[in-house]
Amino acid sequence: MPKAQLQYLTEELNKLREQKLYQRLRILETEQLPVARFDGHQVINLSSNNYLGLTTHPKLKKRALEAIEKYGVGSGAVRTIAGTMSLHMALEEKIAQFKNVEASVVFQSGFTANAGTVQALLTKEDIIISDELNHASIIDGCRLSRAEIKVFPHKDVDACEKILKEISGHEGRKLLITDGVFSMEGDIAPLPALVALAEKYGCIMMIDDAHSSGVLGKNGRGTVDHFGLDGRVDVQVGTLSKAIGALGGYVCSTRDTIEFLYHRARPFLFSTSHPPSVAATCLAAFEVLDEEPQLVEQLWTNTKFFKAGLQKLGFNTGVSETPITPVIVGDAALAHEFSRQLFAEGVFAQSLGFPTVPHGKARIRTIVTATHTQEELTRALGILEQVARKLKII
Ligand SMILES: *Cc1c(COP(=O)(O)O)cnc(C)c1O
Repeated sequence: MPKAQLQYLTEELNKLREQKLYQRLRILETEQLPVARFDGHQVINLSSNNYLGLTTHPKLKKRALEAIEKYGVGSGAVRTIAGTMSLHMALEEKIAQFKNVEASVVFQSGFTANAGTVQALLTKEDIIISDELNHASIIDGCRLSRAEIKVFPHKDVDACEKILKEISGHEGRKLLITDGVFSMEGDIAPLPALVALAEKYGCIMMIDDAHSSGVLGKNGRGTVDHFGLDGRVDVQVGTLSKAIGALGGYVCSTRDTIEFLYHRARPFLFSTSHPPSVAATCLAAFEVLDEEPQLVEQLWTNTKFFKAGLQKLGFNTGVSETPITPVIVGDAALAHEFSRQLFAEGVFAQSLGFPTVPHGKARIRTIVTATHTQEELTRALGILEQVARKLKII
């Protein structure tokens, strides 16, 4: 029965339908694989963040099953009451070692890691200086902290410094925060310059490496390792949900920062910890990063191959430097049609329009993984070419 008090939601949805912004969920019917079945169609999958193919890695599956047998399926409590299991502590030690930092803490997701940490570290007396394309979870954390938020244009180091000069007399704390790799453009933050600014102006430096961990740096250690900035970034966030192949987020910092988060990060305090199987899976994933460096190498081989193929066809791939490569077409309706026809022909590449990306910059986004074969990528390029010519995109 329609409920009068919820009728406004139906009207909002109808507006989205009129504006052609209504989106149906695509349903994955197999494992998350480079070629997978969505909505009954077998497609080359260019839409997952499963960079290294770890969602189906045999070692990870085995460890998850063993953890269920040994420790059950749930943790039964929040971390600060009875829900800290030895597996959680082992995972955090492994992450800290991997990232070459004193300590780390795991959250339920990358989203809660960012939101919970920014909210915990800052107060309304403080100022946050944030790249305009930073992830939604950072923006939410900034808002929840009630600190003043100053946004600088994307990757604009000079504009960032201008803000820092303007607020140099400020009494409270300052946090300079950026994504390591930006999820819509696939470009990399100017981290060396931002770190230098943070040091010059006395800011806490924080980076969100969700799309860089498992992708950039030695064995996928992330942007800090990629740029050789060990010890100079105060807070590093990462996700366990993308290259690591499971679910969760983590924060790396000094031991005291991590212990402070135990006491003040609201998702840590008020939401139940990971099931043991997830912690065991993630632990195994970090072992795989050390044991199988060829996965990251193959990811980059595939990335270069596919990006070169797109550029040779004359597509506008923007400023991408990573496995995330947008194909920018401009008009949102065209991007959605492009994506729809690609899917019908056997390639899944999600279209993105306003407000996810600016007006006039609508695109499809492609993400290659280490587990795509060159044959699959070549086939995908062929389908992209055929559909794009039909739609006069190239
Ligand atoms: C995906 C993403 C997150 C969120 O990570 P989850 O583990 O999926 O919650 C945070 N930041 C950035 C930049 C991301 O791309």
